[in-house]
Amino acid sequence: MTNPNTSIYIHIPFCKHRCAYCDFNTYAGQEDSIPAYVQALINEIEFVGQRAGQMNIHTVFFGGGTPSLLSAPQFDSILRALRSAFTFTADAEISIEANPGTISPEKLNAIRKSGINRISFGVQSANTEELRMLERIHDFFTVIEAVSTARKAGFDNLNLDLIYGLPEQTLASWQTTLQRIVDLHPEHISAYALTLEHGTPFGRWSSKGLLPLPDPDLAAEMYEYAEDFLEANGYVHYEISNWAKKDNAEGRMQNAESNSSFIIHHSSFVCRHNLQYWHSLPYLAFGAGAHGYANGYRYSNALRIKTYIERLSLPSAFSLLPFPLSPATVNQHKQTLKDDMSEYMLNNLRLTNAGVAESDFRLRFRSGLLDVYPKEIEDLVKNGLLEIKTSEVYRLTKRGRLLGNQVFVKFV
Ligand code: SF4
Repeated sequence: MTNPNTSIYIHIPFCKHRCAYCDFNTYAGQEDSIPAYVQALINEIEFVGQRAGQMNIHTVFFGGGTPSLLSAPQFDSILRALRSAFTFTADAEISIEANPGTISPEKLNAIRKSGINRISFGVQSANTEELRMLERIHDFFTVIEAVSTARKAGFDNLNLDLIYGLPEQTLASWQTTLQRIVDLHPEHISAYALTLEHGTPFGRWSSKGLLPLPDPDLAAEMYEYAEDFLEANGYVHYEISNWAKKDNAEGRMQNAESNSSFIIHHSSFVCRHNLQYWHSLPYLAFGAGAHGYANGYRYSNALRIKTYIERLSLPSAFSLLPFPLSPATVNQHKQTLKDDMSEYMLNNLRLTNAGVAESDFRLRFRSGLLDVYPKEIEDLVKNGLLEIKTSEVYRLTKRGRLLGNQVFVKFV
């Protein structure tokens, strides 16, 4: 395989308020630390960039937390540090996650001008009661306003994130949410089932019986409805929880496919950054708690903002660290071939249409898929969770998409 392009993930761990279901590495009430945090990010980018050698970056993703809490000049300084440390491809996808309640026309205009060309709004629901239960700081009118502001600022690649399977959510309210979302014409939609995470208020309330548990059958019905409804509205279901519009502009289509030997996509508004994860291709990580995968390492950074800033205050003291580790790295694992194969299966099988191709697997690992996983694949096909798309491509069946964990556990 030719040397693939690399991606960059930047974690912004600040939120105005912690939502009741969220277990991401994010903190409320620490916005005073943002300037020092941005400087630490720049230090980390420079440190890793000096050890990276020639590397083409084709996607950058600012995730969180709430990246939109940063000011436009702060984004600008991070992007300048990235561009001076690495080589960007001409068509690089640069995404930002934004909370609809934290944007302004001025900020979106400025960040669009600085080169950010994809925006992802955390909407979650169009239903007022559901948004209140999730403790979101926005209502749906704010979402409508945010989408319109983003369009005016020139964002023509826009994602809306949803959550389904909420306690007391009905199929009818989910259908209304989907209709309202489609009416906003986003290029991309993500829909994830609610998971009750240990240590969150939702997790605690549910363990005390105070929160009516989401009904798994109803959640499955909601997922199946989304599959049919979004397809009928022109969205291609390309990953278990992700849908994208087709784009007939040929240039974009080629760009979406140019990263690797994998020829898989019908849609050009697929999230190229997330495809990097699903293809098990390299990405660098910057920021508190960020995870990366490059140069044979899986690694992650210190979680707490204060620790992260302290570790990046004197990077020269860590000059012997190998690429891509940084003074903020607290966990590192040198991947074995078995790790890489297993993760390849877990990630690539998420691609609902493309699945896993024997030829790609062989190109990557110099072994046949059926030589490495003969029994696993045979069992999954027999149990109706995996299907043979063509003579060499395996992908999840409709049932496999609902029971993904039963499939993935076979390859762990
Ligand atoms: S805005 Fe997003 S990252 Fe922040 S607490 Fe809520 S769900 Fe978590």
